[in-house]
Amino acid sequence: MSNPETAIRDIYGRTLATRKPWQTLCIVLPMVLLSFMILNRGITIQSDPLQLISLVITYLFINLLFVLMVHSGKIDRYRAILFVTYAVCFVISFIPHLMETRGSNTFTSADILQGKIPFCHIVVPMTLIPAVLKRTIIFPGSMLEGFASIASMLVLWMGVTLALGKGFCSWGCFYGGLEDGFSRLARKPLLKKINPKWRNLSFAVLLGVVLTSIATLSPTYCTWLCPFKTVTEFEKVSSVLVLVQTIIFVTLFLGLVVVLPLLTKKRTQCSFLCPFGAMQSLTNKINAFEIRIDKDKCTQCKVCIGICPTFSIDEDDLEQGKANLTCTKCAKCISHCPRQAISMEIKGVDTLCNEREKVFSGRTLIFLYPAFILLMTMGGGMIRDAIHRILLLLTTGKLIQ
Ligand code: SF4
Ligand code: SF4
Repeated sequence: MSNPETAIRDIYGRTLATRKPWQTLCIVLPMVLLSFMILNRGITIQSDPLQLISLVITYLFINLLFVLMVHSGKIDRYRAILFVTYAVCFVISFIPHLMETRGSNTFTSADILQGKIPFCHIVVPMTLIPAVLKRTIIFPGSMLEGFASIASMLVLWMGVTLALGKGFCSWGCFYGGLEDGFSRLARKPLLKKINPKWRNLSFAVLLGVVLTSIATLSPTYCTWLCPFKTVTEFEKVSSVLVLVQTIIFVTLFLGLVVVLPLLTKKRTQCSFLCPFGAMQSLTNKINAFEIRIDKDKCTQCKVCIGICPTFSIDEDDLEQGKANLTCTKCAKCISHCPRQAISMEIKGVDTLCNEREKVFSGRTLIFLYPAFILLMTMGGGMIRDAIHRILLLLTTGKLIQ
């Protein structure tokens, strides 16, 4: 029996099941060992004590979140803390890195031709199809070497798509956490009535940027629409054309990543604009996991419809008993369903109702391991580097070496 004073409660104040400490320990132990190998890679700590301190802080922080996630079952809460931290640390780490390697976070036409632009996953749909149809790699990044080469990002994307599908958008994307963070700042949404059909816009954007990229053999989303240019790298404003592009980037960033998420508590850029997210929705059938709704337990209260940050559950989905193809597997609906009717399941495997009474089912744990490893692999190095740069700033007054 849990002590009522210390018991973990859900958002409705009900006591949640928690694991016994030894059970939690057994489940997290492989992650504790694995995380040491993943986080420790590629750094020489002997010559730099600040590297050692940043590694230890990152290691403890990430493992603490995993222990809390497994022990309490509050997947979305601890995922969000790590996901938002990862996105903020990405910005803190990425811009100084560009300063060190390229001398600036602005780029020129010469930098593009010399492949000095890091490759990012959003550009995958604009790269793959022209590469197949026209035998041309249109993105001006480095194919095999350097920071975020095309080859390494493509391999990562294929692995993640097979393992998690659209889950990449809540467990791997280094931009998504910014929006996730802004969408959680307000207590209640000020704007509630948004037609979920707007999510189809991202599919239109995907089609548009693929067609225009094939026609122009250039990454048109990067050139014209990417809101994240605002907080990463952008072309020097040297003409009216570049000025117009910069205004579009900043407007989309402020509108879809900051203001609308604050007003709606939704991830509006992910839902309405991102062509990579749309592509992940279309390829989502390949992977093994899905969010399922137990129609016998569901009372049609529609809490999940309101709480889902990506408009991935509507009345039709409740009828069908599963989230729609835009679901990012963030697990927020699982935490908020007052009937515990929603669960992470393996496609083709029947739901075992009695499993739901536990902290979370074995199927959830099978999902959680690759998902958390992805988040740690992509985010761990950036969190460590950001902490290192902050320590550097505090001790030497410099962010770059
Ligand atoms: S929150 Fe749970 S009970 Fe309410 S509609 Fe969604 S699945 Fe049904
Ligand atoms: S349906 Fe649930 S798991 Fe999927 S995105 Fe919405 S809240 Fe997250």
